[in-house]
Parts: sequence; structure tokens; C-alpha cells
Amino acid sequence: MADRKPQHIVIVGGGYVGLYSALRLQRTLRRELRDGSVRITLIDPQSYMTYQPFLPEAAAGNISPRHVVAPLRRVLPKVRILNGRVSKVHHEARTVTFEPPAGQSREIEYDVIVMAAGSISRTLPIPGLEDAAIGFKSVGEAIALRNRVLALLDRAESAEDEDVRRRALTFVVVGGGFAGIEALAELEDMTEDAIKYYPGIDKKDLRWVLIEASNRILPEVGPEMGEWTAEQLRERGIELKMETFLQSCEGGLVKTSDGDEFESATIVWTAGVKPSPIVNSTDLPLDERGRIKTTTRLTVAGVKGAFAAGDIAGVPDVTNPGQFCAPNAQHAVRQARVLGDNITAYLRGEELKDYRHKYVGSVAGLGLHRGVANVYGIKLRGLPAWFMHRTYHLSRVPTVNRKVRVVMDWTLSLFFKRETISLGEIEHPRDEFRAAAKSGLKR
Ligand SMILES: Cc1cc2nc3c(=O)[nH]c(=O)nc-3n(C[C@H](O)[C@H](O)[C@H](O)COP(=O)(O)OP(=O)(O)OC[C@H]3O[C@@H](n4cnc5c(N)ncnc54)[C@H](O)[C@@H]3O)c2cc1C
Repeated sequence: MADRKPQHIVIVGGGYVGLYSALRLQRTLRRELRDGSVRITLIDPQSYMTYQPFLPEAAAGNISPRHVVAPLRRVLPKVRILNGRVSKVHHEARTVTFEPPAGQSREIEYDVIVMAAGSISRTLPIPGLEDAAIGFKSVGEAIALRNRVLALLDRAESAEDEDVRRRALTFVVVGGGFAGIEALAELEDMTEDAIKYYPGIDKKDLRWVLIEASNRILPEVGPEMGEWTAEQLRERGIELKMETFLQSCEGGLVKTSDGDEFESATIVWTAGVKPSPIVNSTDLPLDERGRIKTTTRLTVAGVKGAFAAGDIAGVPDVTNPGQFCAPNAQHAVRQARVLGDNITAYLRGEELKDYRHKYVGSVAGLGLHRGVANVYGIKLRGLPAWFMHRTYHLSRVPTVNRKVRVVMDWTLSLFFKRETISLGEIEHPRDEFRAAAKSGLKR
């Protein structure tokens, strides 16, 4: 390959698939990267990969937010990282349109593209949802939510008006998958801890509500463990509204399909995901669910030089004919490795491999020392499941550096009480300075 123009691999997205496939390529194409016959560019608006399964623990204050992300430039020294968004993929011309945060957008040519832009929250046209709710997919959302919940405890403690207190102390989560249940359980656990410092707030003043459209929660751990989890959450005083829809939440007034109506200052939306909207700006084929149509070898169906995996891709599940791989990290991380190897094989003219992985079940944390797990048919509850959840995710979080930092966070929290301060002020860092400048003008 040495005398030819370098083969350019462009990876769109630096999450699970982007990071792990680039790591694999860095290793398998070491020689080609050294002699300059291959170059790799990864494009993502963020300069880090987010380890999403740790977001609930970051929101609850058990892990520092910086430790749930992996810095792309440090982890991928052989890969060019560009921060910005890909707004168009023109595969026939082998170009992507790259939008940097500042300056003109530009076309970048490639020989091989990896579509790894993941998914976004799947919302519905519910009145008030866009203004009143927050998603739970990014580290920014997790931290904003933590700050908000703690700031609302401050507000309730300082208010005398019963309506203000009730609105502040009512927290709603919509969607009972692992993102919703873990966020709900971890945050409820945090508020239970925090109110020890709020003499004016009693546990019975806190109202945590889950709204779930189906009749089960946590499908990832199977029906039996899902039911057990529901029981545990109910015992903790959490209200589970099953087979119920959120009808509207204008101005924080929550109306549900069971006829209930109440005010809440916190509405978290975790009711499913859909492929990143970049899929609508490509000439790549899509399946009936709007995902990139992908083969079992993680190539885009019917075209050359294009690969896809993770939440954005409809990957046939060879272990379950007729079905597709679910959008989860378990598949994304394994697909990324096969995808990396298949790109190497493609560039070397070798045969590509099928992606084959049988879903092994899942683990979920439900607050400190509480969890649920169903892995390889082994069902665990409470402390053992929580321990398994932590060890499993620790083994999966990228880089030794991050692993050590997460263990340090957990160890510190064994000896010291967890931090329950709201730093919501960091979302408006210029307010105080602006107020000072205004007061100066009055003199
Ligand atoms: C709170 C939470 C908890 C979870 N817990 C678990 C769990 O316990 N177990 C499990 O298996 N799964 C879990 N998941 C699901 C898992 O995190 C996802 O399935 C996984 O991240 C998918 O990987 P991906 O690479 O496809 O997408 P992502 O990891 O989301 O990466 C996509 C990347 O693409 C970037 N991007 C998007 N659009 C563009 C664009 N136009 N141009 C350039 N870049 C772009 C994004 O910034 C992002 O960095 C959880 C998810 C959440 C939200």
C-alpha cells in the first residue's frame, strides 16, 4: 500500500463503536499507520467518549463526572480527532460534510466510512415535553439533573408555601428501561441520603414517580427480575404507574392517562432511543426502523467501503434469526472489535467475518448496595447484584486510568459521606458578574 495515496478511514462518532473500533484499527493497522499508507480520522462534537452505564452513578454523586468519560486524543494517539458534527454523508462521492464549532463547514474525502453516531432520545409530540423535560444520555444531562434535584431540596427546605414545596419534591421519570430505572433508583437513593441534612424535609414528603407505557420494567433482566425490581422500588415508596402514558406536562403540570394530575419541577424522559438524525442526510440505505441497513459482517448493505454498528445500525442477530441486535453497549463494544477487524481485512483484500454474539443478560444498579442482575441465566438480587454491576462495568470502562479513578471514587465514598451539594450555579457562571456590572452602572 506504501506508494499509493493513503487510504483514509473516517469514523463518524466517538462513542462506544467509534472509540473501540478506532482502538482496534490502531493496533491491527499499526504497520500501515506507521508507513503512511492508511490514516484515520474520527469526528465527534465532544473530545471524549461517554461511558453511559455510569451516568446514573455520576448523577448520584458516587463517581466524578470526569471519570465517566475517556479523552479521545489521549486514548487514540494515532488517530486524528476532529471536534464538530458531520452534517452530510455523500457516499457515492466518498465525502462527508464536516461542521466545526467555528468557521466554515468543509468536505472531507474518504475511502472507508464508519457510521457510529449512535442514537438520540426518541420523543413524542406531548404538549410541554420539549420545554419541561430533560433527557438522560449525556454527562451534561446527568450532572444538570443532579444539580437540579439537589437545588430543589434547597428550595423546598427554604419555602413555606406548600404548593412550592410539593412541586419541588415531586420527581418524574418516564420510561422503565435500564436508563430510566437506574436514573430513578440512584437519584432517589441520593435524595434519601441528602435529606438527613434538611430538617424540614421528611422521606414521606418526597414523591418519585415512574411512568411506563408497558406492563413491565427493566426488560433487559427478564420478566422475573423485572417484577422483583418493581416490588423493591414500591417498597422504597416509589410510585410505579404501569400501562400509563404521559399526556402533557405544560409548565410542569403533569397529566397522565390514568387521570392523575400533579405539578413537578423535574421530568426525566428516557422512553427509548432512535438513530442519530445523520441517517437522514446520507445516501446510505436505511431499514424500516430508520437505522442504517447493515449486514452480518457490519458492512452497509449493498455498498462498498461503508461500515456501521451500534445504536445507529440495524445489525441482524445471527444467534436469533429474523431479529436484530438490541441497541446496547454489550453489542456496541463487541461489534466495534469485529468492525475494526473487518476494515483491516477489507483493506488487505481478505475475507470478512460475521458478527455473532448471543445477548447474555444484564446488570443494573438500584442505588448504594442495591442491584439486580440476570447474566448467563444467573439471577442475583440486592448486594451481590450491585457488586456484580460494579465489577462488570469497572472491567468495561475504557482505559486503566479511568478504572483506577473510578475505584478511587468508590473507595473514598466508603469512608466519607457522599457529596450532596448542588453546583447548579456552574450552569450560569456569568450571572453574578453581570449583576455586579449592572450594580456598578447605577452609581
Ligand atoms: C443512562 C444509560 C445507561 C445505559 N446503561 C447500559 C447498560 O447498563 N448496559 C448496556 O449494554 N447498555 C447501556 N446503555 C446503552 C449504551 O450506552 C448504548 O447502547 C451505546 O452507547 C451505543 O454505542 P454507540 O457507539 O452506538 O453510540 P454512543 O456511545 O452514543 O456514541 C455515539 C457518538 O456519536 C456522536 N455523534 C452523534 N451525531 C454525530 C454527528 N452528526 N457527527 C459526529 N458525531 C456524532 C455522539 O456525540 C456520540 O459520541 C445505556 C445508555 C444510557 C443512556
